Amino acid sequence: MLVFKFGGASVKDADNIINLASVVKLYQENELLIVVSAMGKTTNALEKLTKAYVDGDDEMHTIFDEIKKYHYDIIEQLFDKQDNIFNDVANTFVEIDWIIEEEPHDDYDFIYDQIVSIGELVSTRIVNAYLNKAGLKSQWIDVRGYIHTDNTYREGVVQWSKTKESIKAAIPVLLQKGIVVTQGFLGGTSENFTTTLGREGSDYTASIFASCLGAESVTTWKDVPGVLNADPKFFKDTIKFDELSYSEAIEMTYYGATVIHPKTIKPLQNAKIPLLVKPFTNPTEPGTVIKENGRNQFLKPVIILKHNQVLVSLSAKDYSFISENHLSDIFGMFAGTQAKVNMMQTSALSFSVCIDFYEVRFKKLLKALTQDFNVKYNEGLTLITVRHYSTDWLNDLKAGKTILMEQLSRNTIQMVVR
Ligand code: ASP
Repeated sequence: MLVFKFGGASVKDADNIINLASVVKLYQENELLIVVSAMGKTTNALEKLTKAYVDGDDEMHTIFDEIKKYHYDIIEQLFDKQDNIFNDVANTFVEIDWIIEEEPHDDYDFIYDQIVSIGELVSTRIVNAYLNKAGLKSQWIDVRGYIHTDNTYREGVVQWSKTKESIKAAIPVLLQKGIVVTQGFLGGTSENFTTTLGREGSDYTASIFASCLGAESVTTWKDVPGVLNADPKFFKDTIKFDELSYSEAIEMTYYGATVIHPKTIKPLQNAKIPLLVKPFTNPTEPGTVIKENGRNQFLKPVIILKHNQVLVSLSAKDYSFISENHLSDIFGMFAGTQAKVNMMQTSALSFSVCIDFYEVRFKKLLKALTQDFNVKYNEGLTLITVRHYSTDWLNDLKAGKTILMEQLSRNTIQMVVR
């Protein structure tokens, strides 16, 4: 059996959904499980809606109307007015109406997951209905009954044995009846609340299903020809890798290569399942294959940009040296506020760390840190990681940039820049 994952860009409008069905048609002889993300930039819009709701900002209604309009415009192009999909979509969106009618719960991450998850619940309804309309026999399942997580909202930790049991008990039977369409990015807790697996987590969903079912491969369909050495939005003359090893792919995603979610590779590596990254506009092209003993040919350095970083510098309020005890306290606070550390440096009197910026979590972190430390920070920075670099090439990359922190190892250089 094959697992396919279609990301937001591949379902961003009616034409792309029609294209998705034609890609699926090419593989209809196989047992197919399809994982779908929210359409286009819906997750970002739902994040804004969540924030406006929690802030008590009336703009939430405008944001919600725009999200609904965007989806209805798409389904109007794909279906007749009488189609059931209009009810299904309305019934899914109404869950947001119920949430925002009430006073916000005090756990932001909990509210976030209950609202943001609607993006995937709606997109999969639409894709499933369209596949059926296109003559492909397809069934919609609610992933929250299969991928079980703890209740770490926004970063659900998968409970593997329970998940495997649920998936193996039900999915093979369904696959014999037809295609199975489900939501990426979501999980469910034992109290039936929704969790999310971290931004861009749909790849991880595909990998969870593939590893539990022993799939032949996972294909993630992209708007790029495969895994490139740099983001074509920011760099010219990028090259595509034909093959990569699991470990190189893990390194790249760890540093922030957004082409694949960082948690995706490990379950596939353990089960020796290849991951194919292919262009949804040219489905017969080979794309990139990530597999055991994949050849890594670094004809050019790999450049990874991670935006929205904050560089925090700490020094002890009593001007003492930064000791192991301080570091242990600091890391306790990072773990307690789910801060993601991307790079760090220690000197005698200060400790500097580059982390992903999430406003609500960052405020909590600052509150905790400022009790014992003097804290300075800069927001809006970018972390550049270059793997397999050459010196002349680095000079070009650094030109004109203010570098706030830099670190070099044999294979990798990282710098935080403004
Ligand atoms: N829709 C979610 C996001 O945009 C998950 C995904 O697309 O993988 O982060």
